[in-house]
Amino acid sequence: MAGLLPPVSADNLDASCAGWQGWDARVFRARAALSTGERIELVLPPARKDSPAERREAETQGVRLVIETSEAPATRAYDETITLHLPDGASLTDLLMGSEFEGGPLDGFRAHPLPFKVGLDGADQSFNLSGLATFSGFAEGWIVEDGNRGLLVMRLPSPDPDTCFVPLAVREEGGRRVVQIGSVGPDGDCHRTRSPYLHRAFAGGAVRFPATRCVFFDGGWEEGVRLFRAMLVRTLAGRLEGYRALPVTYNTYHDFGPSYSRADLIRAMKRVSELGAGLIHLDPGWETVWGSTAWDEQRLGPPEQIVADAAAYGLNVGCWTSLHTTDPEIAEGCYALGPDGDRCIAEDFGEVKLYGVCPASRWAEVYRENLGRLIRAGFVFVNSDFHDWPWPGTSCHDQSHGHAVPLSRPDWCEALNRMFAQLHESGGPVTIEMHDHVESGEYRTPVWYLYSRPGSYDEKWAYEFMWKTYSDLLSQKLFALYHLRKAEPVPLFLHMNMISDNENALAFWYVASCVHHIGVGGALKASPAVFKGYRRAIALYNRHFEEFTQGQFIGIDELAHIHIHPNRLSAVLVCFNLKDAPEERDIQLDIGRAAPDVAAMGLQSDAAVQTGGDGWCVRACVGAKDVSVISLKFLP
Ligand SMILES: [Zn+2]
Repeated sequence: MAGLLPPVSADNLDASCAGWQGWDARVFRARAALSTGERIELVLPPARKDSPAERREAETQGVRLVIETSEAPATRAYDETITLHLPDGASLTDLLMGSEFEGGPLDGFRAHPLPFKVGLDGADQSFNLSGLATFSGFAEGWIVEDGNRGLLVMRLPSPDPDTCFVPLAVREEGGRRVVQIGSVGPDGDCHRTRSPYLHRAFAGGAVRFPATRCVFFDGGWEEGVRLFRAMLVRTLAGRLEGYRALPVTYNTYHDFGPSYSRADLIRAMKRVSELGAGLIHLDPGWETVWGSTAWDEQRLGPPEQIVADAAAYGLNVGCWTSLHTTDPEIAEGCYALGPDGDRCIAEDFGEVKLYGVCPASRWAEVYRENLGRLIRAGFVFVNSDFHDWPWPGTSCHDQSHGHAVPLSRPDWCEALNRMFAQLHESGGPVTIEMHDHVESGEYRTPVWYLYSRPGSYDEKWAYEFMWKTYSDLLSQKLFALYHLRKAEPVPLFLHMNMISDNENALAFWYVASCVHHIGVGGALKASPAVFKGYRRAIALYNRHFEEFTQGQFIGIDELAHIHIHPNRLSAVLVCFNLKDAPEERDIQLDIGRAAPDVAAMGLQSDAAVQTGGDGWCVRACVGAKDVSVISLKFLP
């Protein structure tokens, strides 16, 4: 059934650019430092937007740069692929390549990194190009726009285990400001973020970098984000189509920490069932020891029994896993060994040390066997954690594992991804969540990293907002998740701390609106008022589960989100008020011409809908530190 809403063009790739004129790149420039100390520069003419299929080359001192440009599947867009050839024996210590634009004509233009326009620290990362004399940064993509026209430069998801972010640099040169956008840069100072492509280019030989997509468009930042997301959706469509979110998930850690008994779990199941959640997630505490992945049957009984106990309360079961272990005696030949043959200490808490196991070792088989048993017993969710790639000098050196020594970052990530993906073949339906492959909880690889691999993970961890979720919202750090959801289509998972929340479930609604699969912890420790608020909130969320998890997300701004049902006959508008006093705001929705069947539901708030013109105006009256969840039904 089509419904009366016109199709919203969020996944439409066409970028109209009728008004684009006169803002061309000056040159394409590559600057490199040779390990001899010599600096070289290669300058090529800019890409021609009217005839994008071309090949350009430049050479100096034996260093050769080849750029192949091809038309991308969108109006006014092209892909640029760069190959850098170094002569025999030469190596680099620095490299920056990209199109250069004159500073003056860019006055009034703003630059926005993607997907984190607002970073994980809550800071707005956007800046005015005329306001900075020097800048150097990297992102999955950049938008440069003045509200009327813009340029999007991005990398597309690929199954490649290497990564290469898009640089943006601003510098003064002879009294002029120069802005260089794309295509290859140093990816910051952190060795965990740095591109393996760059490492290879530094070492010498020939390196073909992944394509950079450049899209010119009419409009401002919102249009740039829409196009960024549309490009990702097109590339990842095969994986995204089959995704179905799991129900609200209860997390044991906030109530029990890393240790619990079977009686504790039964007590939690009863409470979680009253809460309205649909899955109990066993955080650390279910193993014989931390990181062994062996089910502690002696303490918890058979896993089949836990699944049956949970089912009696209407719950499914899932569990957490780790590649760092406190057990110094796990199966022989499974540890990551340092250059001196000692086990790598992944985390050192003084008396307690966590040893790293190697995913490219026999550990992958142990993992499949142990987790496979739980999946066959009925576990439907596996959550990854503690799988940081070690420092370059201390990565796994065990020759018996059969991998190159030391184990490289791409090989580590490949092996890790494979280790989790294999669980999909363990004999039961299971949703796999993965943290960042290189550093758990941090942002070291693109959000879509290795997601497009067949059978790969299903959900990405939405970073470390699981502890102080409520204060992270009030300090606006959680706005990072809003921008993440707006830009990236990869399903997100986060379990949050309900103990930290208020009785209006303000943080719950924010997380529920920004991620596809929400978990909450603290059902036993939360105050009665918060528990009651969550019970009410989860019941309402469950009524709109399809809109929140399968629908189309439209971010009006950080404090107003809309989720349109896949059948386009209903939607939910969520308005947040972080202030200490009630607030009234009018939200114009240009999503349909038909009068809605008004069904405004608030928690402590109220809302009214007015129709007129091409859309409707929703007047939301939102209480202090409250949320208004407004159901909109469209007449068929
Ligand atoms: Zn190894």
